[in-house]
Parts: sequence; structure tokens; C-alpha cells
Amino acid sequence: MALLAANPALFAAVAGLVGLAIGSFLNVVIHRLPLMLERQWRAQAAEIEGRAAAAGGETYNLVVPRSRCPACQVLIRGIHNIPVLSWIALRGRCAACRAPIPVRYPLVELITALAFAAVAWHFGFGLSAVLALIFTAYLVALTGIDVDRQLLPDILTIPLMWIGILASLWYVDGQAAPPAALRDAVIGAVAGYVFLWLVFQLFKLATGKEGMGYGDFKLFAAIGAWLGWQMLPLVLLLAAAVGAVVGIAMMAASRLGRGVPIPFGPYLAGAAWIALLWGPDIVAGYLGFAGLR
Ligand SMILES: [Zn+2]
Repeated sequence: MALLAANPALFAAVAGLVGLAIGSFLNVVIHRLPLMLERQWRAQAAEIEGRAAAAGGETYNLVVPRSRCPACQVLIRGIHNIPVLSWIALRGRCAACRAPIPVRYPLVELITALAFAAVAWHFGFGLSAVLALIFTAYLVALTGIDVDRQLLPDILTIPLMWIGILASLWYVDGQAAPPAALRDAVIGAVAGYVFLWLVFQLFKLATGKEGMGYGDFKLFAAIGAWLGWQMLPLVLLLAAAVGAVVGIAMMAASRLGRGVPIPFGPYLAGAAWIALLWGPDIVAGYLGFAGLR
């Protein structure tokens, strides 16, 4: 512990390695959590309609069963489950049937590792770093699920918000977020939800379409709880900027027609992560500019 505190580079390296392993777990979360929710919803629907629940009640959660190749059903051996390295060693193919393994698996691991290392380097050893790592892991999982399913599950967004508010009890005056000050966190959570809800209602009034999902409001509320309300305008600005660039690029590549819903969650998550690291500097600038500080 003392060694990690005294040696920022070592702390960043260790966080990067931990990030590889966490990224591997987040791959499982991104793949399985939506399937687990779907099973739950089917069971509930069956119960409401008085049907017997469908058979095939074998355990399915984040731990059980062990991972199999989706093509040949062979169990994936431990040696072939090492983050990033296994994918490179196997040249992106299943060891048994040579079916291609999507590049997103090592990509999620790599992104998590780099993000973890950056957070550790930025905050240094301490409570802020630990909290920021938890926040980062949630953002990666939410991004992956939203890209796949256009879904930001309550089971992730709501606890994320509560953890952010709870952590603010440990705020020390004058220190950087996370945790945010209790007052800033509570106002941030409420303002985040209400603001996007209002945008949603106005957009619906103006166009008759639904431009976002309720998951986006909850994610924005969680971001407000973690970073404090002062960060919300910046996060929205960054999300819109990145979203516009990516959206235009995808339309130009004609992979996406007009009117196809683009998930907003990944942009919010990416913007929140940027604000987590560099937001205080940017906000100090604009609050000063507006004469509010
Ligand atoms: Zn296979």
C-alpha cells in the first residue's frame, strides 16, 4: 500500500493490469446481463398471464455457466481466457473450431486497462482513485450494453447513482471529485434526471418522436451524483459534440439511415469520463468566465 502511494507509475501499472482482468469480466457483464434481464422479464410475463414458466431453468448468471465458444460450444480453457494476449496468440480465432472471435472482446479489455491506468495516474493512490475506478467500470459496461441493445439497465444506472450519493458523505472540503460534495451530488442527481426528461418531453412535443430512453435520464442523474451538478453542462456539451461527429461520420459511411435511433448512452458515458479527469479544470474556467466563482 505504502509502495503504491509512494510510486504513482507503479500504481498506474498495477491499475492497468487489474483493468485487464476487470475488462474481461465486463465483457461477460455486457454479454450476459441483457440475457439475464430478458429471462427475468419472460418469467414475469408468463406469471402475469398465468402460463407456466418456460422449461430450461438451468442457472445463468455472471459466473455460471463457464464461457463457451458460441460456434462450437467448446468450454473456453483458462489458458485461452487471458485478456488480450490469448486473442492475439489465437489470432482472433477459437482454439477448437477456428471460428472468429470478435475484436471487441480484446478491445473492451484494452480500453478498460488504459482507462484504469489513466485514472490511477491522474488521481494517485487514495479514495478518489478507487471511486473513479468503480465509476469507470460502470461506464464501460453501460456503453457496451447500450451499443449492443440500445438499453441502459436500471440494475446498473440506479445503483451507480446511489453509490455516487453515498460516497459524497466522505467528501473532504476543497478536494476534487469523486466524491462530490453531498449538496452538489444530490442537486446533480435531480438536475441530471429532470433536465434530460424536459429535453425528451420538448422534443416529443416538437417532433412527435421519442429521441432518448429513460435510461439516458438515469445515467445522467448518476453522472450528476458522481461529478456534482457543476459538471452537467460540460458533460452534455461534450456528449453532443462527440455524438454529432460520430453520427455524421456514420451517416457519411451510410451505415445508418436518418431516423435510426442512435444510442446516446455511450456519448454520455464517454463525456462523463472525460469530465471525471479534466472537468474541474474546464469548469473552473467557465464559471470564472461567467463570474460565478
Ligand atoms: Zn469454437
